Amino acid sequence: MTVDLLIRDAYIYVDRDHEIADGWLAIKDRRVHSVGAEVATAPPARTILSARVQLVTPGLINAHHHMYQNLTRAYAPVTNGTLFEWLTGLYPLWADLDAESVYLSTCVAMVELLMGGCTTSMDHMYVHPKPFLIDAQFRAARDIGFRFYATRGSMTRSVKDGGLPPASVVQDEDTILADSERLVAAFHDASPGAMGRVALAPCSLFSVSERIMTESARLAEKHDLRLHTHLAEDPDEDRYCADVYGCTPTEYFERVGWATPRSWVAHYIYPSSDEIDRLAHAGVCTAQCPCSNMMIGGGAADAMGMRRRGMRVGLGCDGSASTDHGSMWLETRMALLLGRFRNGPHSMSARDALDMATRGGAACLGWEDEIGHLRPGACADLVIWKMSDIARAGALSDPVEAWLRCAPAVAGTTIVNGAILVEDGVPVMSNLAEILRDHAREARRIQRL
Ligand SMILES: [Zn+2]
Repeated sequence: MTVDLLIRDAYIYVDRDHEIADGWLAIKDRRVHSVGAEVATAPPARTILSARVQLVTPGLINAHHHMYQNLTRAYAPVTNGTLFEWLTGLYPLWADLDAESVYLSTCVAMVELLMGGCTTSMDHMYVHPKPFLIDAQFRAARDIGFRFYATRGSMTRSVKDGGLPPASVVQDEDTILADSERLVAAFHDASPGAMGRVALAPCSLFSVSERIMTESARLAEKHDLRLHTHLAEDPDEDRYCADVYGCTPTEYFERVGWATPRSWVAHYIYPSSDEIDRLAHAGVCTAQCPCSNMMIGGGAADAMGMRRRGMRVGLGCDGSASTDHGSMWLETRMALLLGRFRNGPHSMSARDALDMATRGGAACLGWEDEIGHLRPGACADLVIWKMSDIARAGALSDPVEAWLRCAPAVAGTTIVNGAILVEDGVPVMSNLAEILRDHAREARRIQRL
């Protein structure tokens, strides 16, 4: 039997429990067909790629992002603010988003993610000054060929209700719930190998009404969907929940019916040990965003400690306006540095960080059977990493540790759903220059420059 593509002569990281030195991997019908060690045992292939001395990993999975924010990256007036100062400074700009700017920012975000080795990303789109913005994101994902997990974000509480955003970017409850159902009907594909799925994602406990939280949980149950929100990200959130709800963020999260295996949360920096245990037991997963946490300077979760307590942890690069980059390789490296800085050199290895960026992210998305590993049957989403001979010089003993320690690594070849989308470090998208030109125009408009 002839396969579509054979990658050979590579060091293949199949998953945390299986690595093959000098191995091969075969792709057929958009799936990993087989892997092996002896090239003589590889099937015949229509195309052969030799990846000599290169590392092949599953595509990294981005478990938390806000793609539209790349229109306001490194926005000078708020670069040194706290989380709440940063949000209140940017909301008035984000009020000018429309379908065109969201399409362009989603294209830029996805191409940037591909170049950093990410093959599946969620996006938390919670600012809706105009309708049909997530529809525009799905158009971008289809044009690029990216595996996309949209989340229908929402906010109901503007400044007049004690929230942070202006009235122009929040919506009423019925509009949010009706649009959630519409998006699920239009774009959520629960079938194996899907290229588009939809989850429900009220922005945070302090930006939506209690009804949106409870109704989102009910809708998720009805349509078998996943749930996502920011949780326990900032001490201001603790104070808000104590004042408004009379409890901690985690207690409120439990009260509104979100402590279920459907949920994954972003950040989760300030829970007690007992609260971590409770959500871990409930099957809730967490997406840590190391660069965003460190850039905002508001603390970071003990990801390895959470894993030891039984919580699944993925990684996310978070909104481009806080992190200002979209490289999941860089997030994975930062997760390693942050973990070791916190708990010492024995606490975490490159393989632990890579496991978070692959299987951990897949757990967040409820998609562990098909993505985040390269076992036969997995979706053909993978990366052949590229490191310069200079960066790799002397790194002879462990290709996985070298990949994360000898920086920087970029995606040489990124394959999504069996298709090569980055080749020799360059995106194959033909109209990228045009997209960047139009993105610059929209960024100037939104930043009023
Ligand atoms: Zn976020």
